[in-house]
Amino acid sequence: MAESPYPMLSVEDALAAVLAQSTPLPPVPVPARQALGQILAVDIQAGEPLPPFPASVKDGYAVVAADGPGTYSLVGEVTAGRVADFTVTPGTVAYVTTGAAMPPGADAVVMVEETEKFWARNGPAQIEIRARVSAGDDVRPIGVDVAVGEVVLEAGTRLGPAEIGLLATAGVTDVSVYPRPRVAVLSTGDELVEPGTPLGPGQIRDSNRAMLMAAIEAVGGEAVDLGISGDSQASLETAVRQGLVDADVLLTSGGVSMGDLDLIKPLLEEAGQVHFGQVRMKPGKPITFATTRGGRHSCLVFGLPGNPVSSLVTFYLFAVPAIRKLAGHPAPQLPSVEARLAHTLPLDPARPEYHRASLAWDRTEHCFVAQSTGSQSSSRLLSMRSANALLELPQQAGELPAGSLVTALLIGEI
Ligand code: AMP
Ligand code: MG
Repeated sequence: MAESPYPMLSVEDALAAVLAQSTPLPPVPVPARQALGQILAVDIQAGEPLPPFPASVKDGYAVVAADGPGTYSLVGEVTAGRVADFTVTPGTVAYVTTGAAMPPGADAVVMVEETEKFWARNGPAQIEIRARVSAGDDVRPIGVDVAVGEVVLEAGTRLGPAEIGLLATAGVTDVSVYPRPRVAVLSTGDELVEPGTPLGPGQIRDSNRAMLMAAIEAVGGEAVDLGISGDSQASLETAVRQGLVDADVLLTSGGVSMGDLDLIKPLLEEAGQVHFGQVRMKPGKPITFATTRGGRHSCLVFGLPGNPVSSLVTFYLFAVPAIRKLAGHPAPQLPSVEARLAHTLPLDPARPEYHRASLAWDRTEHCFVAQSTGSQSSSRLLSMRSANALLELPQQAGELPAGSLVTALLIGEI
């Protein structure tokens, strides 16, 4: 039997090799409102306090707390965005709305529900204050939400909606983030045609490119389409060279197994350094990882196997942590949880298996329960439909009984 010239690495060693070659891209400024999902490259400090002035928490009356309950003259009103041109002296109150700057002299707010207004025929309206309050009640002091100089966001934070809001609070318009890695995708194979093309004899549709491009976008990369290359040295070389021009990562699919037309590995040996060409895992054993030297910058290249499931599983296990590291994620590995098997699963004695499953939280058992997606054949993309986890099954003879706890790598929403 023909043997691969490449040593078989464990998944752990292969991932370590990938991460060792991946370095965060140089940060770039982007408009804060377009930075959703990106990783912040600098700490963000508040230049001003929030609130910038003592502000009312309620709609009600600004009072001198020491006055206590009673009926008082209304001296004026302050709505949010305005400032008082009067002072609240003992024995008087002022109407305030939520977020309004407290008028000078007042030290507490009584909410409108605890008051009654009486119109006077001549002179100011009278306000009955029914509640007893203490100084500071229902007033947000200066800087209570955000103090001046406070670090509101730390470098390495992923910018979600709240973080974008905090950038706006801090008055930030352009923000320094790690850019989205550009990830080029090339399908290889003489048998492949585009989805819109009727199938000729011996042909199948290229599913990997659409799938991988979607997966790249889903993990925060920018996908670049390199199309399909036939299995000839010349056309593969042209396509790979084009991919290396300005992509940070190149993904090829197909052409990495042991057949005569599996030309990717020799081509990558030519173009740079192959770090591994085989990993002990199922599916995806022929996954190949290289870096290219020369050119404007170096590029990470993943030669993914052609079978759609192998392609996507190896993408998640190796390319996603690399993309995340380039994009500045401080913890680029796939997140994982422990899950209980809903049913008994067969094991592989030769390789650890990444079994596709859908996880759900079991409210009565208080744990994640993993349902297998069924037949795990590497050509059957249906085995990844609705899968949100890859179960790490140990390399072992026999089976793992229902109820066993396994590590589940998360690849989708739970
Ligand atoms: P290979 O790794 O090139 O030997 O391909 C392994 C299997 O995956 C073959 O059955 C190919 O036809 C299939 N395959 C390769 N590339 C694709 C693709 N882009 N879309 C769907 N199937 C593919
Ligand atoms: Mg092929």
